[in-house]
Amino acid sequence: MPEIAGGTWWRFDRYELRDGFILPAPQAVLEYYDPWGEYRGQSRAKIAVSPYHSLLELAGQLADIRLAPRLSSGDEDRVLRWCSQHGLLGILLHQTEAVALPARWELVRVWPEQRDVLLPTLYEYVWGNDGWSVRVEHAKPEAVQPQKRTRAAGSIVTGKDVPADWPRAGALIRSLYDSRPRYESLEQTWARFFPSIREGERATYAYPCPLSTEFCGLYAEPLVDFVRSARLLRDAILDIGLEKIVESDVLQDHHMEMDFLYAADEGKRMLSSIISPLRLAVIDGQSQAVEQKWMSPSLLGFFALMALQDLAEHGHVRRCDNCNGFFSSEAYQAKYCSARCRQVYQKRAYRKRRRDHASLVGERRI
Ligand SMILES: [Zn+2]
Repeated sequence: MPEIAGGTWWRFDRYELRDGFILPAPQAVLEYYDPWGEYRGQSRAKIAVSPYHSLLELAGQLADIRLAPRLSSGDEDRVLRWCSQHGLLGILLHQTEAVALPARWELVRVWPEQRDVLLPTLYEYVWGNDGWSVRVEHAKPEAVQPQKRTRAAGSIVTGKDVPADWPRAGALIRSLYDSRPRYESLEQTWARFFPSIREGERATYAYPCPLSTEFCGLYAEPLVDFVRSARLLRDAILDIGLEKIVESDVLQDHHMEMDFLYAADEGKRMLSSIISPLRLAVIDGQSQAVEQKWMSPSLLGFFALMALQDLAEHGHVRRCDNCNGFFSSEAYQAKYCSARCRQVYQKRAYRKRRRDHASLVGERRI
């Protein structure tokens, strides 16, 4: 399989739940990793359980958080364990196109005089073809009003000192559910993922650049959003798989077939929507001059792309006949996620045959 995706994700070795948020535990160790490493490593194997399969599995095990006010402690442990292996899903970054921080006074060296002056400075983080970029812009020195009061480096620029053509502080957010972009204040969606920042500072905080170590340390994910997003991906994939059942002609019920096909269409629409923030980048190739690579702003996006790969190849994401777990396989007749599951299933089937046989023999004796 060609390497179709690239990118980096992060994980801490320990997470904890606090006030409904999943966040790194104190003194947890940060590590960046390539989420495709495991997928690529395993997809060459005949039978593979990819990282995204484990998310689908987890989503199926968790109680529906919309119905219950909170998860059981067993479910909470499962989520935290999963996060320590893969990291958070990156739901905020998945939904963010661009962020503009409030303009601040910053000491800038001006040429040719070679002196430092305080200038309004704008920081923007933009999700683009090669990942997140930081755009820094300074106001022109001649446009700055003569100093009327003491300005301090790092303080917020107010009133007429903010250049008229600069964007207002805020974030361009595209909701996971309807993918319609909206320009919002930082206090709305953006600040919700940084529970450690005090309420009064949320609109003006100097948020660090996405994926920086400071960002990773501050970022937290509401448990509700984590569970909902995982379920969204799982439902989309299971619904798409319904088409395969209709094709196999086992339903023998026209109405149910129509329902299944409708659900499969909905699943496709949902998966399209989930992968919509992904960007196709042109990068230096190894054998050719250039190669193409999909970039994702989030782990959720990477996992959706992995699932799409498997769906495009097999038409559905496979489930084990024994444990019902998700897996991939190049063999179209593969039924089990592992050799162990095949053995367990075959042993069980054998015992059942023996039991049936014994009862038959018993009946005959009567
Ligand atoms: Zn299995």
